[in-house]
Amino acid sequence: MRAPVILCYHAISSSWQTTLAVSLERFAAQLERFVDRGYVGLTFAEAERRRVAGTLPPRTLVVTFDDAYASTAAAAPVLRQLGYPATVFVVGDFVGDDKLLHWPGIDEWAGTAHREELRPLSVDALRSLQGDGWEIGSHTMSHPSLPDLASDECLRELSESRATISDYFGGCATIAYPYGHVDQRVAALAAQAGYAAGCYVAYSHAIDEPFRRPRVAASGTDGRMREWTKMAPLPILMRRSPLAPLLGRL
Ligand SMILES: [Zn+2]
Repeated sequence: MRAPVILCYHAISSSWQTTLAVSLERFAAQLERFVDRGYVGLTFAEAERRRVAGTLPPRTLVVTFDDAYASTAAAAPVLRQLGYPATVFVVGDFVGDDKLLHWPGIDEWAGTAHREELRPLSVDALRSLQGDGWEIGSHTMSHPSLPDLASDECLRELSESRATISDYFGGCATIAYPYGHVDQRVAALAAQAGYAAGCYVAYSHAIDEPFRRPRVAASGTDGRMREWTKMAPLPILMRRSPLAPLLGRL
C-alpha cells in the first residue's frame, strides 16, 4: 500500500533556537533532496483523496506546518520554486485576531526577545498561501491535548475550528492534532466532526489510518545524524515496519 511521506514543520527562523523553528536554508535543502529523489508534492487532503482512490503517486511528499506562525509564509517562495504545495494547520481562536499565539509549550517565549515569533499568519497572508495552492486545515480552537478532554469538549474543539476555518477559507477538510496527540476515541470524534483525515506525530508509523496519519517532525535543533533518521529513505521505511514500535522505544 502506497503511503506519502508527511513532514511536520512549525516556524521558519534562523534566530529562534527551538525545536519548532527551521532555518529557510535548511528547509530548502531538506526539500531539495526529496525533489532529487523524484517526490511529487501534494497537500494533505489531496494525498488522502488520491490514496483512497488508489491513484497516489509512488513517491509523494506532503509538507505540513502546524500552528500557522507568520514566519511560515517565508517558505512559500521556496515551495513555489520546487513545485510543492503545503498544508498549514491553524488554531481557530487566533484566526482574524492579531494577538500572539499562546498555549503551554510556547508560552515560555512570550516574555523574551523572540516574542514576535509567536505572531500568527494574518487572514490575508493565509488567503495568499491558499492562492499558491496551499491547503488550510485545522489545529483545533485552542490547541489542547485532545485525549485529555471529555468527549463533548473534544468534539467542540474539532467542530468549531472546522466551522471557523470554513467561514474564512471556504472549507476545512483535515486536522493536525495538537502536540501530535491522538487516540482511537479522538480519531472517531474527528470523523464525526466531518473531517476527511487527521494526522499526528510519532516515531513509529505502524498506525496509519485516515484519522491517524503519521508524520515526521522536522526540528531546527536536529544534528545531521538525527536529520538523516527522519528524512532518508531507509529510516522512513523502518518507521513503517512492524518492528517500529520497538525501535521507537530505543
Ligand atoms: Zn501545534
